Amino acid sequence: MKNITRRAFLKIAGAASATGVLGYSAMARAAGTNKGSARVIVVGGGFGGATCARYLRRLDQGIAVTLIEPSVKFITCPFSNLVLGGLRTMDSITHDYNALKQIHGVNMIHDTVDRIDPVGKKLTLKGGKTLTYDSLVVSPGIDFNWAAIEGYSEKAAQVMPHAWKAGPQTVLLRNQLKAMKNGGKVIIVSPPNPFRCPPGPYERASMIAHYLKQHKPRSKIVILDAKDKFSKQPLFQDGWKKLYPGMIEWVSGAKGGTTQGVDVKKMLVDADLVKHKADVVNLIPHQTAGKIAVKTGLVDKTGWCPVDPKTFESKLHAGIHVIGDSAIAGALPKSGFAASSEAKMCAAAIIALFNGETPPENSFVNTCYSLIAPRYGISVAGVYRNTEKGITEIEGAGGVSPREAPDSFREDEAKYTFGWYESIVADIWG
Ligand code: FAD
Repeated sequence: MKNITRRAFLKIAGAASATGVLGYSAMARAAGTNKGSARVIVVGGGFGGATCARYLRRLDQGIAVTLIEPSVKFITCPFSNLVLGGLRTMDSITHDYNALKQIHGVNMIHDTVDRIDPVGKKLTLKGGKTLTYDSLVVSPGIDFNWAAIEGYSEKAAQVMPHAWKAGPQTVLLRNQLKAMKNGGKVIIVSPPNPFRCPPGPYERASMIAHYLKQHKPRSKIVILDAKDKFSKQPLFQDGWKKLYPGMIEWVSGAKGGTTQGVDVKKMLVDADLVKHKADVVNLIPHQTAGKIAVKTGLVDKTGWCPVDPKTFESKLHAGIHVIGDSAIAGALPKSGFAASSEAKMCAAAIIALFNGETPPENSFVNTCYSLIAPRYGISVAGVYRNTEKGITEIEGAGGVSPREAPDSFREDEAKYTFGWYESIVADIWG
């Protein structure tokens, strides 16, 4: 493990920019001091940010890492669908930052970053404080494009919850499902690509169906989709046919699934001019990079953040690394697993850059498990690496669960789903 001194870092930053030749470690050794440390600030204590903060400290105890996150406890979106299905409680998907603070020495600040000055290398918190950094990591997740569907807004989400950021919205949707009559109709509006967690809306339909089958078996779920295909589609549809026959209907974009507007008072969803009346509407809005990334000018015209796939450094602002859902990370999906994998690579790259070394060759892994029922799991896995085309999937290294498989296979995958969750949250917050 190498310790990086802040004084040395500043000397080198100046010298390196003057000479453009000497690397950090050579200069640090030459400086020969060890007081203070290089400062990295991480914005957002979710899957990407919390992993990055932890692994920066694990890789180099000499770096001062500050993690800024408004919430004192983080509620994971993974397994929030299981809360809707009645399989998990909110408590069981809520994690604190004690281990990050006490075991890993991460300096936690519970506040919101209001402004970032990429030139001055400083940021301002909502609380008023200004902090300076040597390197900044931004992992703010997603924001919603409220204007994309007429009649929908942050206020309307109190009637038609999105539940796409876990927390009070999850509880609201769960309570609406509990209050719905037997024979009621649930509409899930699924957004266009790209969006957080590609299999998420379909796992959600499955978990809601699991709940309804037990408690309100005459009810129906209609998924109005802006897309014509979706992640693990044949596996989901096989599972629905077997476990919830006739309960879930999927309407593709081509068949009139694209939602144009809603009327929250009348509980109507307007898709390709057909008005669907519902008892419960779960509207998952169009998405963009997190608000602070947009405000800082880290996004391009797609609404997401272009980054150097080797280091996750922004292509628009040097010295700022963007990871997780906000980043355009080639073939990697917008998942918690991918965000965490990116975070580890980003931490290693930041340390290499501090040391004037070439960032290590990076590779990434992602597995998305989905539960169709408590003992029926399916998955898609991929291994990725950097090529001249950016981050691409290594052919043959991953794959999806087989369509033909005995019940015991689905049962095993359900067990792996629970195992995956426990291990990733332990790796990040444990
Ligand atoms: P987040 O984890 O959302 O973290 C962002 C953090 O940044 C938040 O805590 C927020 O408070 C903070 N923040 C935002 N702005 C600021 C600011 N200005 N200042 C300070 N802090 C700020 N992924 C999987 O791998 N497996 C799954 O099974 C899975 N299931 C899912 C199910 C559902 C229903 C959903 C919606 C998602 C699921 N995901 C899953 C996806 C996963 O939740 C995201 O991909 C992951 O959370 C992305 O990590 P992130 O760090 O980019 O964002």
